[in-house]
Amino acid sequence: MALTVSAFAGAKINAARQTKARRATAVVRAEGTDYGLGLQCSPTANKNIDPKGRAKVPLELEDMPLPLNTFKNKEPFTGKVRSVERIVGPNATGETCHIIIEHGGKMPFWEGQSYGVIPPGTKVNSKGKEVPHGVRLYSIASSRYGDSYDGQTATLCVRRATYWDPEMNAEDPAKKGICSNFLCDAKPGAEVMMTGPTGQVMLLPKDPATPVIMVATGTGIAPMRSYIRRFFLEDVPNWEFKGLAWLFMGVANSDAKLYDDEFQECAKRFPDQFRIDYALSREDTNKNGGKMYIQDKVEEYKDQVFQLLDGGAHMYFCGLKGMMPGILSMLEGVCKEKGISYEEWLEGLKKKGQWHVEVY
Ligand code: FAD
Repeated sequence: MALTVSAFAGAKINAARQTKARRATAVVRAEGTDYGLGLQCSPTANKNIDPKGRAKVPLELEDMPLPLNTFKNKEPFTGKVRSVERIVGPNATGETCHIIIEHGGKMPFWEGQSYGVIPPGTKVNSKGKEVPHGVRLYSIASSRYGDSYDGQTATLCVRRATYWDPEMNAEDPAKKGICSNFLCDAKPGAEVMMTGPTGQVMLLPKDPATPVIMVATGTGIAPMRSYIRRFFLEDVPNWEFKGLAWLFMGVANSDAKLYDDEFQECAKRFPDQFRIDYALSREDTNKNGGKMYIQDKVEEYKDQVFQLLDGGAHMYFCGLKGMMPGILSMLEGVCKEKGISYEEWLEGLKKKGQWHVEVY
């Protein structure tokens, strides 16, 4: 489907905020984070890079049918941690890690799918019996080619789950999240038991000209990063992205932005095709002077978003469950303003496969 850049008319980029964000991510980069993007920065220097700065990838992975539950709980795959890096600045709320896991090409997946991870150790169940820990799902944050473009790794973006005890007025280590802490603390070479891949809800549209609107909060950025890498960092001749990609990203503050350097580089190289709008709840204010939440940011562009959806865009949501009620009630309000039946509008998008939600 042909798309016009006019959908982006009136876009203003807040230069001051970007500079601040760069400063925040620079702190992280100083610790060694590169996400594999470094390869892209000097296209002419590398013969594996096409003229648009996209990496050559092993195209046989394009012919792969959708893999589903290749590995199950009873016979999981054992992957190996290649690296774990903290990717948020010092003032972020909480810790988020970028974790690259080697699967050696044995656990392929499509963009938008998840892996299961079974943390080591046991727990005592409600019947007093000692049993292995259950599987936890993580959206895959790289494309099928992985961060090193060879189809040998997958990346997870994991937020360390902690428990704040209000009585102790401190974190209670006895109640911290089992799997996220296992992953964030893992050392290179550590083994990880994995299941999957799973999930069909967040797959990309078949037609690479379809516009894609992405709405993410926190680690909900994971599937969006996998799409963005596929759109702008990889040379896939039979699936060259021709649409518009618009990312709405909600986090608490600039230090909590995830993969901003990587995304800004893509936006710089593909300005007519990629746009990012942040809702920084603890830094920005909405039109009523309250905190800027993700739904407030999407609402600012309601006309363009509705126009894109009318034209066949797919809309993806990922992040904490709590994001959806605010978004849905905002969309309901916009429908009312426009004299559209909200129920019919939403039902129509779902029927046409344009509506993708994965929240947890
Ligand atoms: P658990 O051990 O399961 O504990 C859960 C919570 O309970 C923690 O916050 C913990 O601190 C708290 N807790 C533990 N004990 C107590 C107690 N006694 N009293 C009170 N509270 C307690 N997460 C990501 O980070 N990135 C992703 O990309 C991602 N993708 C997902 C995709 C899907 C489809 C789904 C369903 C979930 C996804 N998740 C993702 C969430 C992930 O699966 C886990 O739920 C999350 O990492 C927490 O697991 P955990 O083992 O660390 O915590």
